[in-house]
Amino acid sequence: MTSTAAARAEIVVDLAAIRHNVSRLRELVGPDVAMMTVVKADGYGHGMVEVARAARQAGSEWLGVATLDEAMALREAGDPGRVLCWLAVPGEEYAAAVAAGIDLTAYTVAELDEIAESGGERARVQLKVDTGLTRGGAARADWPAVFAHAAELEQAGRLDITGIWSHFAASDEPEHPANDAQEAAFREAVALAEELGMRPELRHLANSAATILRPSARFNLVRCGIASYGLDPAPGRTPDLGLVPAMTVRASLAMSKQIAIGDGVSYGHTWIADRDTTVGVVPAGYGEGVPRAAGNLASVWVDDRRRAIRGRVCMDQFVIDLDGDLPPPGTDVVLFGPGDRGEPTAQEWAEALDTINYEIVTRVGGRLARRHV
Ligand code: PLP
Repeated sequence: MTSTAAARAEIVVDLAAIRHNVSRLRELVGPDVAMMTVVKADGYGHGMVEVARAARQAGSEWLGVATLDEAMALREAGDPGRVLCWLAVPGEEYAAAVAAGIDLTAYTVAELDEIAESGGERARVQLKVDTGLTRGGAARADWPAVFAHAAELEQAGRLDITGIWSHFAASDEPEHPANDAQEAAFREAVALAEELGMRPELRHLANSAATILRPSARFNLVRCGIASYGLDPAPGRTPDLGLVPAMTVRASLAMSKQIAIGDGVSYGHTWIADRDTTVGVVPAGYGEGVPRAAGNLASVWVDDRRRAIRGRVCMDQFVIDLDGDLPPPGTDVVLFGPGDRGEPTAQEWAEALDTINYEIVTRVGGRLARRHV
């Protein structure tokens, strides 16, 4: 059989799961809070355009992206709705995004000027304030100057300030003192904007974890990424909302064979067979975003059993311990999925690799085909 890319190894994305998750989150926040589904980084590896469509179908009024290219790709795919973009860099071509009705984010006087001078229509701009993440956003000491300038440009009809927003540093740790401090700082920023005569329609602070764990931070819009994909934003801390992981990564076994006690497996022989056993070759590797660190740590699902990865993950393939079984080439191998059949989940891979579920799903790709079902 000629192997196709799809049969060799693929990402299968369950769009009904995305719709279900967005609807669940929508229900949770109620009708007075708008929903933004965050679809940056190719929809956290799930396919930006397809996820965006599913999110809209489930009632997401907003889509959130990092880059202008992502925002424009949504427009090119026919999405006419509200989109917020938050990571333009100086010198970026704002004019097309303004003409396309994208909400842009600004943190500095210089950015406000660049956007106002980009020509064409009146830009929609949301002010991002740093309330304690110490990443992007206007530094607290600069709020008065940045806000005053924004108010001036708005009054002069050069742009519309449509929102004010910030981002949490530790919302996955609800007891972390930064959460109270950031929410209080954000309320101060909103009050200052109002004092200066701005009436930003949108005020938003919450990502998935804060949306679920901190109702006071929902304001009138929430920005949900990871939970929309069915993954837990704060493992062990979130109540069960019945979210369903949307991504399955699967492959077709390339071969299986007998090996003997003492045989070294894969590059560097970091696993030496401790008994006579059988191994299988899975045709996906770090060239497909399977973390190299998964060697000797994660497991996959074959014929209704967990099978340990043995030795190093290579660029195109890795080896699993089949414990004496010899399944034929083509046998289904599930790297991770929703977990309902017993297969590992992205969360389990994350724990095994000492990382977060976000990284596991976002990094898979490369030569993997992606199929939406
Ligand atoms: N808002 C901003 C500014 C982000 O950068 C992100 C993602 O990192 C989100 C919201 C969504 O976060 P989460 O995936 O934790 O819901």
